[in-house]
Amino acid sequence: MDTFIHHARGHSARIAELQEERESYGRLAAGQSPLALFITCSDSRVIPSQITGARPGELFELRTAGNAVPRYSDGGPAGAEAATIEYAMRVLNVADIVVCGHSHCGAVGARARGDDLTGVPDVQDWLDRQLSEELPDDEEPAVRSAVRRHVYEQLGRLREYPSVRERLESGEVALHGWFYEVHTGQVTVHDPATDSFRPL
Ligand SMILES: [Zn+2]
Repeated sequence: MDTFIHHARGHSARIAELQEERESYGRLAAGQSPLALFITCSDSRVIPSQITGARPGELFELRTAGNAVPRYSDGGPAGAEAATIEYAMRVLNVADIVVCGHSHCGAVGARARGDDLTGVPDVQDWLDRQLSEELPDDEEPAVRSAVRRHVYEQLGRLREYPSVRERLESGEVALHGWFYEVHTGQVTVHDPATDSFRPL
């Protein structure tokens, strides 16, 4: 933690010292107009701004265990995920949504392998409710095929949200499925034409 505190101190000092940075950060007080909603896993090896080069104000993030998008439930209590998606669509009007899965994902891997999760019941409950039972039986450490299948399914779930559907129909938003390899830094993207992942 000391390293983080030291860095935060340096970050504050750097912005205070440089006029260009002060002005750039100062403009953020007027509000945000991010370019994309980036949905990814909570995994510490996935850093959206590092992958995309996004600056403050450019990426609206939703992070969940296993980058799962809950099924839209009409009339049920709204969760944090639904609120984040609706806000991105109807208030921020973001033009793109990226669902980014990653290699070596603990959540998707546990589901694909059928791991015993009785010691972490909340994790088990989340995965039981949010991850499909039909993920490929993937024993590979990178769980590549299971994660890619999972990303594709999350894109389908997003289309069920009224706020996403209405903007898809009017052509105001586009959906993207990405797969990020934590051990190589490579990104591949889902190609709907071939239902396969290809390099960006
Ligand atoms: Zn993960």
